[in-house]
Amino acid sequence: MDRKKCCVVGVIGLGAMGYGMASSLKKADFDVVGFDPAETARSRAKDAGVAVLDTPEAVFEAADVIVLSLPTASHVERVVNDAMAAGCLSNGLPSKVVIDTSTSEALISRKLAAMLEAEGHGFLDAPVSGGPSGAAAGKLSVMLGGAENRVKEAMPVLEAMAANILHVGQSGAGNVAKLVNNMLVANHMITTREALRLAETSGVSAETALKVINSATGRSAISEIHFPTWVIPRSFDSGFSTGLMRKDLRLARELAAESGTATPMADLAAELWDESLSGLKDEDDFMLMGDPNLEIAPSEEKK
Ligand code: NAD
Repeated sequence: MDRKKCCVVGVIGLGAMGYGMASSLKKADFDVVGFDPAETARSRAKDAGVAVLDTPEAVFEAADVIVLSLPTASHVERVVNDAMAAGCLSNGLPSKVVIDTSTSEALISRKLAAMLEAEGHGFLDAPVSGGPSGAAAGKLSVMLGGAENRVKEAMPVLEAMAANILHVGQSGAGNVAKLVNNMLVANHMITTREALRLAETSGVSAETALKVINSATGRSAISEIHFPTWVIPRSFDSGFSTGLMRKDLRLARELAAESGTATPMADLAAELWDESLSGLKDEDDFMLMGDPNLEIAPSEEKK
């Protein structure tokens, strides 16, 4: 099928992730329109061939499939509610599908999906993993919550952005899967840093210890990809902020509280990620948490 004729794709939020996704959609030959309030994001997207419009509502109007890549669930809720209020998602219009790739909240996804379905449109929670480089390469992993028919409608767009597409279940299931994944990421960052720090203080370099871990049973994606790419070379520029990591950990713990599930490791991780112990600001790259030289607990000073 000629994808160009099949639909226009809108991307709202052209930041680290949204920009990469919009670029991948362009490469896959979709007509791409977009919106972001930040001038730097707008001009970078224009350079990649995205038709940048003046409002999110204009994107909802122009596009058949709308991809959201926004900081939080409240941004998502506001953008969709505003589009609804402006009549861009009214009943009787040709069916549109919203693919929300933001790391968002299951309750809000369920609410928005029900609201859009009532008007004849679809909403998928579709959080992603793979970072800005995965987004730009069209090789994200996406975990989907929503109705089967909506997943089918969104599939050509999803395939242009992702190498792994996992339909987890009904609305909100994608958000749950993403949050438990990122709860592990937050923990792995701390445990891997701790292991490398112990190796160094005991006479084995972090680099050597990491090679061993990655050939042995202590490894994870964080030790195999993140530490060799962004910690050992000390570039700390993965494109994922500490503020977003804290958000994911907070949402995972809220989910745990709602379901009455104990998460003692994540509770401790949240304390260590907090600025009062880590010293990291929300805008710092989250890989700084992996620096074996970072003091994150007062007891580390004791001998
Ligand atoms: P980012 O801060 O780089 O981009 C967010 C963009 O949204 C910004 O350009 C901002 O100007 C824009 N924005 C804010 N309010 C808006 C509005 N009302 N309408 C349109 N645009 C608006 O963040 P990011 O790293 O690209 O993350 C986006 C989402 O993807 C977040 O939910 C994050 O948790 C998730 N995520 C990020 C990564 C990563 O590695 N960066 C990986 C997976 C998931």
